[in-house]
Amino acid sequence: MNRRNFLACVALAPTISTNLLAQDYDVFLSPSEFTTVSTLNSRLKRLKRFVGFANFNLISYNQALYYGRNYSRIGAFSQKEIGMMERLFDENPNDYGFFGERTCTDLDNRVARKDVEKIPYTGHYLYKGKAEEDYKKIVSDVGESIILTSGVRNVVKQMSLYVNKIYNCGGNMTKATTSIAPPAYSYHTISDFDVGRKGWGYKNFTADFAHTDEFEQMTKLDYIGMRYSKNNADGVRFEPWHVEVI
Ligand SMILES: [Zn+2]
Repeated sequence: MNRRNFLACVALAPTISTNLLAQDYDVFLSPSEFTTVSTLNSRLKRLKRFVGFANFNLISYNQALYYGRNYSRIGAFSQKEIGMMERLFDENPNDYGFFGERTCTDLDNRVARKDVEKIPYTGHYLYKGKAEEDYKKIVSDVGESIILTSGVRNVVKQMSLYVNKIYNCGGNMTKATTSIAPPAYSYHTISDFDVGRKGWGYKNFTADFAHTDEFEQMTKLDYIGMRYSKNNADGVRFEPWHVEVI
């Protein structure tokens, strides 16, 4: 049952506790699927350490498999892990309450180095053209206290963030998809980026960012959009830090 049908059912059954229904509605992985997510999460972390934080944003799926097969510090991806990655890329996440658009159709999507620019001191890349221009304009309009916190993310990077979130949510797919887009559904793969306040660390990825001067100034810029505003139709949480390239 997807979230819209679920809400329709709640409306039809007002005497049943909404809390109880919400727990019933959340979609969980099975114990064996959760075990696969757990080993996959560890392997992706080893891969990230091996290739380096910045490179990890760009490497492709087949490159990830290659590194796993050839370097014992990572270890080959198991058939179950490969099956899980294919599933998480291919499946329709509507049943988890995620209604965003698919942004990528190729599991082995390639990001060409010539198409991206590395942003100094961030470990992140932006697509050349509108995204890079927008970021430079934001820095000049808002000031040097603003910094890129996440840029281009190819499929493997988005997969690793998603798998780590599923793991930390104890296999609750419904909970995971409200805070991180599935690997085929991220706008970071094709255009968007995140910004934050220098020195603010993880707080840049909380609603607190909406109370900063930096955010206040960003809302006045007409050349960028806000992809995940409050109560957005995609079913994603409010993300004031996420810049929509328009
Ligand atoms: Zn983002």
